[in-house]
Amino acid sequence: MPPQVLRNIPSVNELLDSPPLQLLVKRANRSLVVSGVRSFLENLRNEAQTAATDVHFPTATELAQRIADWIDADQQPTLRPVVNATGILLHTGLGRAPLAEEAIAEITSIADSYASVEIDLETGERCQRTVAVEKLIRDLTGAEAAIVVNNNAGATMLTLAALANDQDVIVSRGELIEIGGSYRLPEVMTACGARLCEVGSTNKTRIADYESAITEQTGVLLKVHTSNYVVMGFTEETSVRDLVVLGRHHDRPVVHDIGSGALFDLAPFGISDEPVARDSIAAGADVILFSGDKLLGGPQCGIIAGRREFIATILKHPMTRALRVDKLTLSALAATLRLYQDPDRRQTTVPLLRLLSTSLDNLQNRAERLAIQLAAFPWVVEAKAVSEEAYLGGGSVPTQQLASWCVSLEIQQNGVSDLARRLRIGCPSVVGRVQRNQLLLDLRAVFPQQDMLIVEAFEKIGSTGNENPDSKEQHSHLDEN
Ligand SMILES: *Cc1c(COP(=O)(O)O)cnc(C)c1O
Repeated sequence: MPPQVLRNIPSVNELLDSPPLQLLVKRANRSLVVSGVRSFLENLRNEAQTAATDVHFPTATELAQRIADWIDADQQPTLRPVVNATGILLHTGLGRAPLAEEAIAEITSIADSYASVEIDLETGERCQRTVAVEKLIRDLTGAEAAIVVNNNAGATMLTLAALANDQDVIVSRGELIEIGGSYRLPEVMTACGARLCEVGSTNKTRIADYESAITEQTGVLLKVHTSNYVVMGFTEETSVRDLVVLGRHHDRPVVHDIGSGALFDLAPFGISDEPVARDSIAAGADVILFSGDKLLGGPQCGIIAGRREFIATILKHPMTRALRVDKLTLSALAATLRLYQDPDRRQTTVPLLRLLSTSLDNLQNRAERLAIQLAAFPWVVEAKAVSEEAYLGGGSVPTQQLASWCVSLEIQQNGVSDLARRLRIGCPSVVGRVQRNQLLLDLRAVFPQQDMLIVEAFEKIGSTGNENPDSKEQHSHLDEN
């Protein structure tokens, strides 16, 4: 790039006088726009100096529009709403369970004011912050006491640190789970100051295996629900009930990490083999642990419920403070749990249960209607409704598939991954799944009122589809001819 071309770049003031940037100054604040223009121009100069000589240099009008779009895109929040068309209901990457209207209303009412977080309004005295939800958890699980922490990983670490510090935790070799990231049970144990004592084999662990491992050093008998895998074939596992008999005999607590936190049997929703909190307490588990944002359908948190003496010990551990939840989580959890008190209405009021119980007819009708609408875009070669399998996800029930319907899209010139990206970064943002060179938009986790957002997202992409050169805009300040 010859240096004189660089001198032709309009000045910051000239650019600020252009209509697109004037408009932006009116909407956003001036200093933000000025610094945006400066850094765009700086990038442009750097790129021009290193670029090949045949770059097309934008005109002043083009440049102003481009800078305005660039600043605009930069103003979009990084964390924003997404239409989940992946078919994974509890997608951890998409924030797991959507909250109920009641939970949102409660968050709102608590957020803009002070709240009785740790004050008993009756006496005016300090109280435990989780009393706001403890009674609800007790009623729904049958446990004597409960506390709530940041998530189930935290619940597990806190419980083991409090009940098995410098002691053995006996757990089956078939249940040494890895949840993802760096959460592996053996490492969690070390981090909590507990010692892992693994018993049995990967596929079979009998009560006698636990029994022969019990020593003076034993702190806890731990049972973990293998949420994200199944051991199939020649298998045997020990029931909570049998472990409880053994634990009582040796005066050792049984801790059951049930994972997803089903509060009732979800078999009618097509989900079997998920432990139900109340069943585990009824079988005698001393402490149960589960997530708030998986099958329970509430905010991210970890629930610890069980016998009063153990909950009291856990509460006294210094890590309790480090893992405590805020008033927003507490209010959302309380509101969600209240919805469970009405068994006739919970499947319409808890969004996750609503998604799980949407009929296949409903999904098929919507997929067919959407397919017709999306087929109208010229760059869509074919859009058709197809029956597919959705998954619960979120580290839960990987092997259990849920029947679903998708819109399957074939895009011209192998543009599937480009379209997937443009739908993700668009507004509204839509996340689908690419499978066998087709883009699938699975409706199992899409609320009916979001169908039109999918059409809107396609409209925003416009009539040019994947051939639109603007898709490069995010990467370069120059056109590469
Ligand atoms: C998901 C899961 C966890 C971790 O729960 P988070 O709420 O994600 O921290 C722990 N144990 C089991 C069995 C799980 O399924």
